[in-house]
Amino acid sequence: MFLVLRANVPETDRERLIEELRERGITALTVGGNGTRAYALVGSALALETMALEQHPLVEEVIRDPAPYKRASRSLHPEDSVVDLGHGVSVGGERFVVIAGPCAVESEAQLTAAADAVKAAGAHALRGGAYKPRTSPYSFQGHGPEALELLADVSRRWRLPVVTEVLDTADLKHFIGRADVLQVGARNMQNYALLRAVGRSGLPVLLKRGLAATAEELLLASEYILTEGNEKVILCERGIRTYETTTRNTLDLNTVAWLKRNTHLPVLVDPSHGTGVAELVAPLSKAAVAVGADGLLIEVHPFPAEALSDGRQSLDPSTFTTLMQELKPFIAAAGRRP
Ligand code: PEP
Ligand code: MN
Repeated sequence: MFLVLRANVPETDRERLIEELRERGITALTVGGNGTRAYALVGSALALETMALEQHPLVEEVIRDPAPYKRASRSLHPEDSVVDLGHGVSVGGERFVVIAGPCAVESEAQLTAAADAVKAAGAHALRGGAYKPRTSPYSFQGHGPEALELLADVSRRWRLPVVTEVLDTADLKHFIGRADVLQVGARNMQNYALLRAVGRSGLPVLLKRGLAATAEELLLASEYILTEGNEKVILCERGIRTYETTTRNTLDLNTVAWLKRNTHLPVLVDPSHGTGVAELVAPLSKAAVAVGADGLLIEVHPFPAEALSDGRQSLDPSTFTTLMQELKPFIAAAGRRP
């Protein structure tokens, strides 16, 4: 349930009402920034009913919403959130944003070639992993802080905001001042200590859906970040595990459409991990635009065959350039601009 207080309620009256709620086991969470009049009420439904809040003299409106996510919900925040990534790029507004680059930062030559290619093709931001969550501990794990340094340098020179994954709270200090956006990967979607820590960092967070997480669980994970006062959260559908084995994952576009109706947070689609197959990235990218996504996260490598991770799903520069051109009419039809 959400509660909107009347304008100009004196502070002492407001505190008394919150205390009254607390005595009945109901927590009033503020929603929105400073000076907000809106609260999400969390507690027993019965206690809420017996309080007859609709009739309370301080209350302007009661909005009944049984969903467990509160700050991410559209109920109290009907307009889309727009998240600023820096370098003049924001996600969730009129522009359809494409974030592209290699799965992992491998070398300066690889990263600069990738940045050249994605910038020339019209991408708005660069991606690249410094710390890689690999299924096998024997696979390439990323170059760590050295790769973050390279990303920061390339970001400055190419004037592109950079998105990169943080795996562990202990590494966060290396990201500050080097990354523009912190990615929390699928495997860490329910790492609550990490969610709280990226929330406290104040940096924009790209939160990817877990391999076996429901849409509601994704929104509840986002609440951990929002609860720390960080409203710069971007969600990402990256495919879920199903019985289908012809593709690496099954890109769940149902959930993208559902999220766009139920949350104000921007929603990206990652067709690279969603399919695991380079040839399927273009058709699923177009489908993502059509279903209402706010942008794409795409893996691009100067030489996919030589990639140290995810080469099979990475586009080469010329295929990516063609895709960016082919997306234009879809973006226009969706009422967005490239
Ligand atoms: C990635 O973006 O390279 C990645 C590891 O993504 P996910 O967490 O979705 O598997
Ligand atoms: Mn990858």
